[in-house]
Formats: sequence, C-alpha cells, structure tokens
Amino acid sequence: MAILSAPVFWLVTLGCFVGLYLLGRTPMPLWLRVIIALIAGGVVGYLSGDAAASVKPIGDGFIKLIRMLIVPLVFTTIVAGVISMGDPKRIGSLGAKTILLYLSTTLFAVTIGLAAGNIVQPGIGVDYTTAGEGAQSAIVERLEKANAAQRGPVEQILDIIPANPLQAMVEGNILSVIFFSILFGIGIIASGQGEKSVGRGMESAAEAVLKLTGFIMGLAPYGVFALMAWVLGTQGLAVLENLAKLALALYAACVIHIIFVYGGLIRVILGLPFVKFIRGMLDAMSTAFSTASSSATLPVTMSNVTKNLGVEKSVAGSVLPLGATVNMDGTSIYLGIVALFAAQAVGMDLAMSDYFAIAATVTAASVGTASVPSASLFLAVAVLTVFGVTEEQAVLIVALIFPFDRLLDMMRTMTNVTGDAAVATTVAKWEGALDEEVFRR
Ligand code: ASP
Repeated sequence: MAILSAPVFWLVTLGCFVGLYLLGRTPMPLWLRVIIALIAGGVVGYLSGDAAASVKPIGDGFIKLIRMLIVPLVFTTIVAGVISMGDPKRIGSLGAKTILLYLSTTLFAVTIGLAAGNIVQPGIGVDYTTAGEGAQSAIVERLEKANAAQRGPVEQILDIIPANPLQAMVEGNILSVIFFSILFGIGIIASGQGEKSVGRGMESAAEAVLKLTGFIMGLAPYGVFALMAWVLGTQGLAVLENLAKLALALYAACVIHIIFVYGGLIRVILGLPFVKFIRGMLDAMSTAFSTASSSATLPVTMSNVTKNLGVEKSVAGSVLPLGATVNMDGTSIYLGIVALFAAQAVGMDLAMSDYFAIAATVTAASVGTASVPSASLFLAVAVLTVFGVTEEQAVLIVALIFPFDRLLDMMRTMTNVTGDAAVATTVAKWEGALDEEVFRR
C-alpha cells in the first residue's frame, strides 16, 4: 500500500520527529510518547511501502545504543546486587524462587499455546509445499549450522562456565557473564571488601549505567517510530493475508497469557494493582514490540522494573538478565501453536503422548532460544520432528512462516519481556525487596 513516495515519506517522518520532540518538551510521560511513536511509525510506514525501508538505520542506531549497555549493566548490577544481599544463602533462595516461577509460567504458556492451536486450527487447509526457495535454503543453512554446533546437555551446562570472563563479555554470552558476576560478588563479600572501594565502586557503576539507559530511552520515540515504519513498510500486513489464523491464535493467546497468568500473579497472588504494573512496563513493552529482541530490550526492562515498579536493584539485576536469556513465554506459546499448525497442515492426528512430547521440547527450546529476532522459528524444526513430521516437511513449514515472522515475533517478544518483569516483581515481593509505594504511585 504505497501511497506516499520516498520524498513525501521523509517529509512526513521529519514532521513526526519534530512533533515527537515538541511533545518531549511537555510534561507528557515517556511511555505515552513511545506509544504515539509506535502507532504513527506503523501508519506512516504502512502508507509508504518500501520507501520506508530507508529509515531503518535510525532504528538500528537506537538498538545498538541500548545493546551497548547490556554487558556493563548485567555485570555491574549483578555484582552490586550480590554485595547488597550480603549473604550467599539469600542468593540460593532467590535463585530457587526465580527458576520455579520461570518454569511455572512457561508451563502455562505452553498449555495456552496448545489450546489456542486447537481452538483456532491455524493449519487446516494450508498448502505447506508452496514456501519460497529463498526461505527454504535459508532455513536449511541455519539448521546445518545448528546441527554442527549441537552439544550434549552436560556440555551445555559446562559451557556456562567461561574460560575467560572478558571473552564472555566480548561475545555477549550473557549466561557466562551472569555466572562470573555472581561469583565475583560472592568473592567480594567473602573477602570483606563489600564496604570498601570495590564494592562501593560497583554500586556507583551500576547507578551510572542505569542513568545512561535513561538518557538513551529519551531517544526511544524516534527509534521506535523508525523500526515500526520499516517493518510495516517492508512487510505490511502480509502476515494477515497469508497466515491470518496463525497470527490471530498467537496474538489472542499472548493477550490471554498476559492478562490471566501475569495478571493473576500480580493481582491475586501479590495483591497489587495489575494496571500499574502494565503502565510501569509500557516503555519496555513497546521497545520489545518494535525491536523483537528481549536482550536488546533488557536495559529498558531493568530501568522500568527498578524505577516504576519499585523492585530492588539486587533482585532486578539478577532475575531479569537470566529471564531475558532463558524465560520466553511468548516463544513457548508460539512454538506450541506452530506445532499444531504443522500437524494440521500435514493432516496428522496427535495422541496425548504427542502433546506431552511437544510440551517438553517446547519448554527446552524456549530456554535454548537466543533472545534475538526470529530465533525461535529455527528451533521449531526440532519441535516438529518430535511428533513425526519429517525434516523436509518441517523445513517447508518453517520456510512458509519465515517471511512473515516479524509481526509474530514482535508480539511474542513483548510477552517474553512482560513475563520476566512479572517474575522479578513476584520474587522481589517474596524476598521483601519490593517498594510498594513506588509500585502503586
Ligand atoms: N525474538 C524473541 C525474543 O527476543 C525470541 C523468539 O521467539 O524468536 O525474545
């Protein structure tokens, strides 16, 4: 739907940027400006078609700026967090609660995904043999790479221990950075340095990186506008023409999951107002929606959870980076739906045992999914083959979805990030590390 030509697109975009800048000078809160940018960017992009592709560098620049903060933020907040907990036993109890909650929300997600796939039946009547050659070879290539890198479960756990912590930081290997940071924090406490310069320095550094996140978030309206214009310009709503039912099932399931599972956690279990939770998370939710990457959103999530929800930095600093890497409820919902999509497309009836096998692989796959755009779609092949879809069929099905995946990815990433925050809030409340006054403000 290209109504606007390239020069007009840029004129309108510049106009919108000026408008966003002026709104930034009013008392209007950031989350509202980001949402305005999200909608405006989407509409302008949709009306401009491919002309909107040229605005992508502005979005990329924004993502790079936030990504730049991930490693320093994870390292400093975890070390400072461990120091402020002051007692290694507390780390154990916090870790156990976190893992338990991450697992339980994921199980709800898989169940909701499978239910949505059964009710909406997105794969009935879909001709899965029509996937484009380009998409097919892209999938096969990724698959071969993944197979070559395939490692056993014990090796994967050992991989978390970095051979060299600095290298893990350079490679952005978050689990290894988390591992080293926790140990380093424990070392600082054990050597009685918590109150001395190393300990104090880490706390100040964490404070400084969070401040930087705040500055960069000031650019979010422009970055989000650009990303939305690019996505809707280049992909439009093709997903709705081609995979309408899949999109419907995913969006509905994610909304239900957010309202009932996270809402239940916050409202019923913690007795806190859920609306305030969502309101406090809107910057992170819209950043997740527009970037489709939970790890790129991490600094924003961290800032929202500590500043707006009142979660102590020690809890947010350890629960959120772990969540961004291993806890993906939106992704679990999605993989469950894709499994049923495939079964319906190839005309297979599933037995109860197939559902259990799917649930188990989906949970494992969501833990293993990298937190970058479209990561989970490539793991879908592994999920499909557990219940008897052949690898060739799986590749065709994934290749069929791949070109339209972005709009689906945006929703699941937003759900992933919201889930991390809901768990961080719950753990904080249980650990007595939640400032409810801030939360309710
Ligand atoms: N893009 C998702 C995320 O970053 C992962 C996925 O489901 O592809 O959370």
